[in-house]
Amino acid sequence: MVDHEKVEKAVRMLLEGIGEDPDREGLKETPSRIARMYEEICGGMGQTAEKHLQKTFTAENNEMVIEKDITFYSMCEHHMLPFFGKVHIAYIPNGKVAGLSKLARTVEVYARRLQLQEQMTAQVADDLMKYLQPKGVMVMAAGEHTCMTMRGVKKPGSKTVSVVTRGIFAEDTHLQNMFFNMVRE
Ligand code: ZN
Repeated sequence: MVDHEKVEKAVRMLLEGIGEDPDREGLKETPSRIARMYEEICGGMGQTAEKHLQKTFTAENNEMVIEKDITFYSMCEHHMLPFFGKVHIAYIPNGKVAGLSKLARTVEVYARRLQLQEQMTAQVADDLMKYLQPKGVMVMAAGEHTCMTMRGVKKPGSKTVSVVTRGIFAEDTHLQNMFFNMVRE
């Protein structure tokens, strides 16, 4: 859990450090506001998706399940700036499926913390493998990193894409292409 007192002190120091006056009217509430905000945007820390994925349903058949365009917002751990975009998830069940909203919950658990996009993509895939024990999983994330678009190389709109395959998706390029075709539109 977020230590509000520490965050507030640190933000005050940060404001002073960049030459601001933390006591001017517009900034007075900023340290406490930021402490409350971190409670939410780091709300996935120390969690796994177990609580979302433990309730499963018997699969009628074992056809590929795809949930695409799951919006995510996360924070880059190198600059503590937001990165955000879409995650697409596919898995091939092996007798059990999760409710579709639970895939979005799984993404949320790993987005709400200081994160790296590639790592988030892998963590989502690994939790699905672990808790649903499917034949395979494929996860793709495409995100805009504000640490690249509002500063540094400044390429607005450029996206970082990360792809992770597990189980039968790892070897089967036909399945991978099916996934790419389906998430394309
Ligand atoms: Zn960054």
